[in-house]
Amino acid sequence: MTALLIVGAGFSGAVLARALAESGFDIHVIDAADVVGGHCHTARDTATGVMEHVYGPHIFHTSNDTVWRYLQRFGEWVPFINRVKACTVRGVFGLPINLHTINQFFNRSMRPDEARDFVAALSDANIDQPANLEEQALKFIGRDLYEAFFRGYTIKQWGCDPTELPADILKRLPVRFHYDDNYYDSIHQALPKHGYTRVIENILDHTRIRVQLATRCDASMQSGFAHVFHAGALDAYFGFGDGRLGYRTMHWQREVHDGDYQGTAIINYPELDVPWTRIIEHQHFAPWEQHQRTLVTREFSRETAANDLPFYPKRLAVDLALLARYVESAQNLRGITFIGRLGTYRYLDMHQVIADALALAHDWCAAYARSDTLPLFSRSPL
Ligand code: UDP
Repeated sequence: MTALLIVGAGFSGAVLARALAESGFDIHVIDAADVVGGHCHTARDTATGVMEHVYGPHIFHTSNDTVWRYLQRFGEWVPFINRVKACTVRGVFGLPINLHTINQFFNRSMRPDEARDFVAALSDANIDQPANLEEQALKFIGRDLYEAFFRGYTIKQWGCDPTELPADILKRLPVRFHYDDNYYDSIHQALPKHGYTRVIENILDHTRIRVQLATRCDASMQSGFAHVFHAGALDAYFGFGDGRLGYRTMHWQREVHDGDYQGTAIINYPELDVPWTRIIEHQHFAPWEQHQRTLVTREFSRETAANDLPFYPKRLAVDLALLARYVESAQNLRGITFIGRLGTYRYLDMHQVIADALALAHDWCAAYARSDTLPLFSRSPL
């Protein structure tokens, strides 16, 4: 039977492994970590018993019915609506920006149409096609709301000026002229009752899948496999030969408190003089559980150094130029496909990498059966 190697046991690697195993291939999955789950890893904190989102909050949301139905096979999902708060010098507000945020911020009592006109009057009408994150904000919400909620947070999160960042980063967030403070627009929004790691273990639980943890990929491992799928960072695969792509890494300061620390799962801190970007209180991701003590993690962002885990691809102009060179180098390779957020250097959510992995498995199997050219990326990096 044909054996395939998958590097990375996060959602990309696991979903792909399962789909290819179900198509009759023997799959060997390796991961440098000693647990599966990648950046979605969840684990019970020993001090409190709370299920921790170890690499920061992951709230599953999708409008893709295929992805949603697929996940039901691998665990119980409990509906969860993410209602983020922002703690500013002017008080605590609801995010995404909605009618309540606008009325509270401007101390008004506007109805939806009035608020729409009011915000339109604040917006910069001279910006037609926003060229960067700042222009995107100024075009849609104007300077006051941008500076209160986005400018400082973005500088802390991305470590650069918002004019250098792509506009799409802000397109992730809706602006609403009604009172819905649900952070996402997606039809399905939920959390896995027993954590993401359990779901990913279940996805990988198949007779044709063998998982080897605490194992780094090196070129010698690739022999003996008909094809390799690589979910690690694209620049790392090439030994950073042309230089490092820009990524932000995250770190967390952990605290244990009695009772309820902040009354909700996520509070963002957009002020520049507060060093963390947000505070996460993990017990609020599982309101069906009871705990005496509570785990709180303050999240900080910084530039990725040699031994840090990369999290957020920056995709600045300088990165895209370097990326084009790595993509060109990848085009000379045979027998490998780069997958997932790190392999394609794209800011993707869980539901997107799952959809990509399912589509790739389908396309790859069809091309393999025809001895056709095999896809090089699960999604174009450029
Ligand atoms: N953002 C912000 N203030 C906030 C929340 C988000 O400026 O309170 C901006 C920031 O640039 C962030 C982007 O919007 O990186 C996307 O936010 P999202 O919550 O989608 O980020 P994630 O959950 O992926 O970290």
